[in-house]
Amino acid sequence: MTATRPTPILRVALDTPLDRLFDYRAADAGQGDVGRRVSVPFGRRKLVGVILDVGHDSELPEDSLKTACSIHRDSPPLPADLIELARFAAHYYRHPLGAVLAGILPPAMRRLDSGPGTRMRAGEGAYALTPEGLAYADRLPPRAFAQRALMRRLLAGPLVWADLDANTRGLLRVWRARGWLKGVTAAVENAAAEAWPTPTAEQVAVLARMQRPAGFHVWLLHGITGSGKTEVYLHQVARVLTGGRQALVLVPEIHLTPQLTQRFAQRFPGRRLLSLHSGLAERPRREAWLAALEGRADIVLGTRLAVFTPMPRLGLIVVDEEHDPAFKQMEGMRYSARDVAVWRARQRDVPIILGSATPSLESWRNAQRGRYGLLELSRRAHEGALLPAVRLVDARLDRPRQGLSQALARAIGQRLERGEQSLVFINRRGYAPTLLCDPCGHAFPCPRCSAHLVLHRGRGADLLLCHHCGLRQRPPEACPACGSLDLRPAGQGTQRLEEALAERFPEARLLRIDRDTAARRGAFAAMKARVEARQVDILVGTQIVAKGHDFPHLTLVGIVGADQALVSPDFRAGERLFAQLMQVAGRAGRAGRVGEVLIQTAYPRHPLYQAVVTHDYAGYARRTLRERRVADFPPYASQVLLRAEGRAEAAVMAYLQAARAAAQGLDAAVTLFDPVPALMPRVAHQHRLQLLVQCASRGRLQAFLDAWVPRLRALPASGVRWALDVDPQDV
Ligand code: ADP
Ligand code: ZN
Ligand code: ZN
Repeated sequence: MTATRPTPILRVALDTPLDRLFDYRAADAGQGDVGRRVSVPFGRRKLVGVILDVGHDSELPEDSLKTACSIHRDSPPLPADLIELARFAAHYYRHPLGAVLAGILPPAMRRLDSGPGTRMRAGEGAYALTPEGLAYADRLPPRAFAQRALMRRLLAGPLVWADLDANTRGLLRVWRARGWLKGVTAAVENAAAEAWPTPTAEQVAVLARMQRPAGFHVWLLHGITGSGKTEVYLHQVARVLTGGRQALVLVPEIHLTPQLTQRFAQRFPGRRLLSLHSGLAERPRREAWLAALEGRADIVLGTRLAVFTPMPRLGLIVVDEEHDPAFKQMEGMRYSARDVAVWRARQRDVPIILGSATPSLESWRNAQRGRYGLLELSRRAHEGALLPAVRLVDARLDRPRQGLSQALARAIGQRLERGEQSLVFINRRGYAPTLLCDPCGHAFPCPRCSAHLVLHRGRGADLLLCHHCGLRQRPPEACPACGSLDLRPAGQGTQRLEEALAERFPEARLLRIDRDTAARRGAFAAMKARVEARQVDILVGTQIVAKGHDFPHLTLVGIVGADQALVSPDFRAGERLFAQLMQVAGRAGRAGRVGEVLIQTAYPRHPLYQAVVTHDYAGYARRTLRERRVADFPPYASQVLLRAEGRAEAAVMAYLQAARAAAQGLDAAVTLFDPVPALMPRVAHQHRLQLLVQCASRGRLQAFLDAWVPRLRALPASGVRWALDVDPQDV
């Protein structure tokens, strides 16, 4: 029964698994509080939620309503359009609205003690060299590596405090005390302006096409690595800034933000630029968020979470490397930041640019059907910069020793003689994918997961490590199956390749870049500086090096162990491998030198490799889309995956079967497949199964979910955890 009451009643979204709002009384509340954070009692706890409505009605009897503790009025409320965006995401991805909103707020603003927060003091935003500091540019001690690296970065432009790790901040404080640095007020004002290169003919054509009446439009900018896509973004950003609007730029990889921030800072001196990513410490992240909320930012640059940044004057969205799997969040709300960005662009009626050398097949097909405007950059922007020559090394004829074929070893040797850099790419960290007993073939499975333990070479001792559940153990002396002492590492990882290269080229300076060496905050930037300063001859790395990093002295890329992805059961594995190979190949020879790429493979005739050799994205896409159409796979169908896990496999299976039965009679156009084990069927003793749901029409699939999800919630699921993954990326 609904009754009118004098005390205002808040409808609050709270971060609970329950997909509903909660009512509280608050005597001092008014309409202006919609979008504000509020602390409320919840059971025996107190929670911070977001006020979505202030009214006088509640479905609940008055005496059962609790009173809110306090409304946080120290920062502006979340704007209505952001709440609407959260509502869209909550509905589309079937995640509780309260949890979505909690995920949007920076962690520091979700907590009870979240006070007003310290404002960025003038001078805390960014630092630039003073003339005194500049005088030391080439007078630092040769072994003061950290200082020299810092100097190099400062010479390229001011550094944004929020982007720096603790060590660098420490150094910065010392230098500031010496008078070498001056604070530059808002994030990057007074940056040394960088000249704008004259656009190439292709860039001119692309920019001209983008001159159209403002408003929502999706552009797919397909441009090979080094073709000047970023340059196009910069021009478009300049346009919207001139019009007094803001730009949102999304990148897939946290390590790319400082580099891109700097490039933008140099182009837009005097503009306020914020970078937002999960690697930021809590305080700087809250500061950046508040600055955005208060409309103090011109450009916001960040990783996927930045798609939810409040931007009152939004004029343009850019998604760089739009195909990158990192735009998809894999836990909690499993959203695609690229897709949310497109939705947001439509909501705000602004253009969006999706850029990539290897667009996702979803975006490519949208361009083919004319729903997205296709823009092409087909050659490298630097005069004389040619595409690298890609060669396939037939691993059946030129058998790799310690992972290295003769052809690759020879090519590396030539680079060493010429003083050029090489990169050996292998997408497996650790020493070897597994340890194997030579006489009996016993391998070492993780007792908790359906995966092998990976051999890591630690300081002094070896370690067997599970990459899925984190289990670590010492390798045994003898085979537990046959007692043999003849246990050998099988296969290659970054560490073993590094060792092999060190043996082969004892005089070379090696650097390994993978998650293990780049884990510490700031470590990646420091390693990158070493490569740029030519203190490294051979780089060994995983995909972390492949993404968008420019190494001007790198002229050779060797690719090892790529074949594995060809046999993956995931239908997108090939698409990902192709993108990765094109990207890593793009690292070779960017600055006016011809690069060479050698791919070691046992399947040199495979069409995927052939397409890499001919740099033929369009051909690869055409062929793969044909396969997808025949198989009825995305982008020709929309998918939803119901993932479930639990300790008892039978219970998980029973839940999924019940879920399938609950769909009976809802919509015959929606296909529900049989429940099957997930790609990783067991992790940390949890059995994982999944149920794939598919429909040719996205709209119909969403309508089906409207009816099905309430039934799912009503099913008994004891001992089973389940989650929906809308538009799953790994099926
Ligand atoms: P992408 O984003 O497509 O990889 P970038 O925009 O980073 O390409 O450009 C690649 C390189 O070419 C960069 O070093 C950039 O400074 C340079 N570049 C881009 N456009 C031009 C241009 N019009 N004239 C000269 N150099 C350019
Ligand atoms: Zn054995
Ligand atoms: Zn494990």
